[in-house]
Amino acid sequence: MGQHTNSIHHHGYVEDTPLNQAMPAHERLTRLDAVEILHSPDEVAQWLASTLRAAMGRSEDEVAFDDEWDQWVKYAHSGETITTGLLHGPTISVVAVPEAECRCASTPLVPVGGKKRSR
Ligand SMILES: [Zn+2]
Repeated sequence: MGQHTNSIHHHGYVEDTPLNQAMPAHERLTRLDAVEILHSPDEVAQWLASTLRAAMGRSEDEVAFDDEWDQWVKYAHSGETITTGLLHGPTISVVAVPEAECRCASTPLVPVGGKKRSR
């Protein structure tokens, strides 16, 4: 509650593809299913860190992502797409989605007491 970042949320995607062969962010929205729906910049950073760690087979003690974390939070705040990943895959990305354009069928997204904002 009370943690609303405008009317944007983020979709997390994992592509089993090297970074340089990954599809453009806007295509992910229509071509991939989000593996995670993220509602705050902290959630975004948290998810990126844990997903990267899992891909690397490392533990939290081994890789903290301190520098990246700040960047991720900052980008998520400004609604930018974040793409990261490992050289040989997977590609891990977070795409900002305006509520109005969200196609993720998962209805838990509807904010509590929230209505579509009028423009
Ligand atoms: Zn969504």
